[in-house]
Amino acid sequence: MLLYNSLTRQKEEFRTAEPGKVKMYTCGPTVYHYAHIGNLRTYIMEDVLDKYLRQSGYDVLRIMNITDVGHLTSDGDTGDDKMLKGAKREHKTVMEIAKYYTDAFFADCQKLKIRRPEVVQPATGCIDDFIRVISALLEKGYAYEAGGNIYFDTSKLEQYYVFHDFREEDLEVGVREGVDADENKRNKADFVLWFTKSKFDDQELKWESPWGLGYPGWHIECSCISMKYAGETLDLHCGGIDNVFPHHTNEIAQSEAYLGHKWCPHWFHVLHLNTTSGKMSKSSGEFLTVSLLEEKGYSPMAYRFFCMQSHYRKSLVFTWENLDNAAAAYKKLLAKIGTLLHEGGTADAAKKDALLAAYYEAMNNDLNTAQAVTVIYDILKADADAATKLAALAEIDGVLSLDLIGGAKAQAEAAEDAQSDIPAEVLALVEARKAARQAKDFAKADALRDEIAALGWEIRETRQGTQITKKA
Ligand code: AMP
Ligand code: ZN
Repeated sequence: MLLYNSLTRQKEEFRTAEPGKVKMYTCGPTVYHYAHIGNLRTYIMEDVLDKYLRQSGYDVLRIMNITDVGHLTSDGDTGDDKMLKGAKREHKTVMEIAKYYTDAFFADCQKLKIRRPEVVQPATGCIDDFIRVISALLEKGYAYEAGGNIYFDTSKLEQYYVFHDFREEDLEVGVREGVDADENKRNKADFVLWFTKSKFDDQELKWESPWGLGYPGWHIECSCISMKYAGETLDLHCGGIDNVFPHHTNEIAQSEAYLGHKWCPHWFHVLHLNTTSGKMSKSSGEFLTVSLLEEKGYSPMAYRFFCMQSHYRKSLVFTWENLDNAAAAYKKLLAKIGTLLHEGGTADAAKKDALLAAYYEAMNNDLNTAQAVTVIYDILKADADAATKLAALAEIDGVLSLDLIGGAKAQAEAAEDAQSDIPAEVLALVEARKAARQAKDFAKADALRDEIAALGWEIRETRQGTQITKKA
C-alpha cells in the first residue's frame, strides 16, 4: 500500500517494524468543548486508515490520548489552559468538563461510525510517566529548569525542524503579537515540559513533582502515552495538519532525545475542513457540531459521505450547499442499493473480487476514498447479480462505514411505511393518473393531480418513481 508520509514528503510503501502488526498513535481531542466537524473530519479519515489496514490483514494496535490538561490556547506555551477556560465558561470543575466532553466526543464518534481505539488514555492518568521521562531528559542534558518551569532545549538536537525546512525566525514560537516573549527560554523554539509557574496561577489541577507543584505541557503527553502502550517505537502517527508544528515536531524531539533512537517512521496528516472564511476552529469562527447537523436534518452518515468524497490530503471547504449535495447524493445512492435488496441469489466470489479490484487499487494508492466512492457507483452499474453487488458493497463499507446496506434497508422501509399511510382513495387516484399518463391524456392526469391535492396529498415524479407525500 502506498501512503503519503509527511516526514519524507512523498508517497511510499507502508511498512511496519514487525510484519503484519501496526502500532498506530492518534492525537486525541482536547476535551474543553465539543469536537467540531473539522476535528471529526480528521478522526473519520484516521478511522478509514485504521480500518483499511485491518482489511489489508494487519493486526492494528491503536492508541489515543485525551488531552485533559496542559494544552494552552496557543499551541505554544502561551495563553490560558484550554481546559481551565472551558471550566470557567461553564462554571464547572476541570474534571467535570473533561468527563462531559470526552463522553460527547465518543458519542459523536459512534454516530459517525468511528471505531473506538484499543487504548484511550486521558493525560491526567499518566502524570508519573511524564515526570519519569522529563527527569530523564534533564539528566541527559536535553532539558533545563528556568523560572520554575522545565524546558526542552531544542539547540541540543542536530535537527529540530524535521517536517519542513522552516526558517526559525518565521515561526517565532511564543512570540506573537500582544504576547510577551517567555524570558526563561534559551532558544525561541524551546518548549515547556513541566510548568510550575505559568502566568496563570489559578490552574486547577496540579501535581507534586521534583520541580514543585505543577502540571505537564501538552506535547509530552503524547510521547509518554505512546511509549507506555506501544513501547520504544511506533509504526504510524496521525493527526490533523496543524499538529505538524509545533506539536508533532516537539513530540519527535523529546521522544528521540529520551530514547536515543528514531521513534516513528511514518506520519499521516489530514488536511483541514475550512469554511469559506477560513479554518474551522473551536475558539473562533463558525463552530459546527454533529448535533447541529442533526438538528438541521442531516444524518451523520451524510457528513461522513461528504468527507469520503474528497481525498484526505486536500483541504475541504464546508458550505451548506456542498453538504446538501452530498446528502442528496447519499440518499439517492441508498435508494439505488435499496432496489437490490429484494432480489435474492447467492454471491459469486470470483466476480465480487473482480468488482472490488478497482476499490483496492484506489485505497492502495494513498487511501483514495474519493475514487473508492466512484467504484461504488461502478459496481451498481456493473453486469453482475444483486447478491454479488451487495457482497462487494458490504466489503467496501467495512472500511468506508457509510451504512450502505443498513441505511438502504432503513430508507426503503421508511418509504414503504410512508406509502402505507396513504388512504386507499388517494392510491386509486394515483393509479388512475398513472394510466392517464401512459395513455398520454395529460389533461386528465393534471385533473387527477388536482383531485389528489384537494385530499391533502402531493405527487411528484422522480427518477426513483412516483413519490406521494402528505402536504405540509
Ligand atoms: P484538538 O481537540 O483541538 O486537539 O484537535 C483534535 C484534532 O482535530 C487534531 O488532530 C487537529 O489537528 C484536528 N483539527 C483541528 N481543526 C481542524 C479542522 N478545521 N479540520 C480538520 N481537522 C482539524
Ligand atoms: Zn499528540
